[in-house]
Amino acid sequence: MVAQGSPVDVAIIGAGPAGLTAAIYAGRALLSTVIVEKGLPGGQLNETDLIENWPGFAETVSAPELMTQLRSQAERFGAEFVLDEVSRIEPGDSVHSIIASERTIQARTVIVACGSRPKDLPAEGADRLKGKGISYCATCDGFFFQGKRILEVGAGDSGLTEALFLTRFADSVSIVVRHPMDDPRAFRASGILQERAKEHAKIDFLWNRVVEEILGEDHVEGARLKDLTTGETEDVPIDGVFVNIGHLPQTGFLRGTVDLDPEGYIMTDGCLRTNVPAIFAAGDARIDANRYAQGVVAAGEGAIAAIEAEKHLAAAESA
Ligand SMILES: Cc1cc2nc3c(=O)[nH]c(=O)nc-3n(C[C@H](O)[C@H](O)[C@H](O)COP(=O)(O)OP(=O)(O)OC[C@H]3O[C@@H](n4cnc5c(N)ncnc54)[C@H](O)[C@@H]3O)c2cc1C
Repeated sequence: MVAQGSPVDVAIIGAGPAGLTAAIYAGRALLSTVIVEKGLPGGQLNETDLIENWPGFAETVSAPELMTQLRSQAERFGAEFVLDEVSRIEPGDSVHSIIASERTIQARTVIVACGSRPKDLPAEGADRLKGKGISYCATCDGFFFQGKRILEVGAGDSGLTEALFLTRFADSVSIVVRHPMDDPRAFRASGILQERAKEHAKIDFLWNRVVEEILGEDHVEGARLKDLTTGETEDVPIDGVFVNIGHLPQTGFLRGTVDLDPEGYIMTDGCLRTNVPAIFAAGDARIDANRYAQGVVAAGEGAIAAIEAEKHLAAAESA
């Protein structure tokens, strides 16, 4: 157990794939390691059911189970988990203070692995009907849409994965795509997912449209879609909307401490060092990594950040 006030070698903020992998590497380097997580360890991969692109598994594997294993692996090498939300970092000369809701942690190095969260649907009624037919998590809510008509907004990897998952429950899944079918920008998803979605009997595509309004008083009853070429709108009857239109980095608590890009992603050099000495960043919250938004990329960055933290500590000790 980390004593209050006594500095740890590495404090990690966020227990997604990046933070958990950083904890494994830091623990195996015999560095005292604390990992602060405000929710369920595992990060965004807790929001999906199956994962089939994690190296080392010939068969599809349960993503939450994989994250449980990662957590156990980090604990095996001595990482201490703390359930708390970090509100700011106060940089010091050789020790940084991590201010969380219920404690302050002193750390010689910090790895920020705080990830991102889904962007809200920019349509009238979307805020009012959130949780009343509008969902940002198919794994959490898909079950409630058995036999229903669903609109999926987003045609990236996550959007198509979600749409395919939802076909288990729904009667139909219509995917709204903001570009025409023959436009190379129509899909951002990998080829194999595109093929599966196109071939699926329950899935159809609504090309060249955006969602202008979600219709319904106290639950979703339909959506008003706008054709981007003609400007004409059309109301389609649906029972639920699943949104997958990108993410926002959860970096508000870093503003004024480390350099962020205009969208809030953490800026680093190639060794994942921020502009503040001994503060590193890894995973989806980091500039460049967010372009890929993949668990395995985040995990790889967690490893790099921990190795760089170890090098920093070794250099500081021999100075
Ligand atoms: C539906 C879905 C399906 C996906 N499918 C795949 C897939 O098949 N394959 C794949 O490789 N990737 C997939 N991904 C992407 C993958 O989940 C992410 O790329 C990966 O989780 C990013 O890891 P991360 O550690 O950077 O951040 P995250 O997983 O976002 O974890 C960050 C953690 O930090 C915590 N945190 C944030 N701020 C604070 C704070 N201030 N204090 C304390 N804790 C904080 C958060 O609670 C969170 O647990 C999917 C994502 C989604 C949403």
